[in-house]
Amino acid sequence: MNLTKLSASLHDCQRCQLSAGRTQVVFGTGNPHASIMFVGEAPGFYEDREGEPFVGAAGKLLTELLRSIGLERSDIYIANVIKCRPPNNRDPLPDEIDTCKPFLLQQIQLIQPKLVCTLGNFATQTLLERKVGITKVRGQVIQLENFVVFPLLHPAAALHQGNLQVPLKEDFQKLKTVLEQMSKTPNIPNTSSPPTPSTSKAPSKETPADPPTQMNLF
Ligand code: URA
Repeated sequence: MNLTKLSASLHDCQRCQLSAGRTQVVFGTGNPHASIMFVGEAPGFYEDREGEPFVGAAGKLLTELLRSIGLERSDIYIANVIKCRPPNNRDPLPDEIDTCKPFLLQQIQLIQPKLVCTLGNFATQTLLERKVGITKVRGQVIQLENFVVFPLLHPAAALHQGNLQVPLKEDFQKLKTVLEQMSKTPNIPNTSSPPTPSTSKAPSKETPADPPTQMNLF
């Protein structure tokens, strides 16, 4: 399996009700060998129309924030937890997340990023497999079995709530520091074994379990 084949296999996905209202499946885009991956929530209107994640207003802000720390979109890979647009951009439902999650895990398995930056509550909770608020874990480096999760506020949240713009910028500055530390220490526990695509509800191995604290990984 490779990303192209995985994407093709989902082209006509009918596994959940979202297939009825979507224009197309929004699989993901960017560098398939990226060491940094970003994961958002679900496609919105523009993403559904163009078939690419983060091409609307939140995407433009994401591009700016990436540039502010010296990254281009072509340096990273971007995907969403949910690959099809929920009607009227409503929150994804638990069964939709459960249905789509194995494909996100397969993307991660194929790309093998060192760092997965989760944007907002849905991506963070999906990968950490626990119901933790983004405001509690944002900016923390959380080691999972095969990669590191770095949760950030969602750019769309900062567009709707102006008071989140500064904290979001701070999250990206912190990410810059994490990346600098990472580049100095290439020996990151990453590729021992890929994450197992699974619909299992069992918590993934997270260090530390609860509450997550900043780890001196890099
Ligand atoms: N666009 C996306 O692709 N994902 C989001 O989570 C928000 C906007």
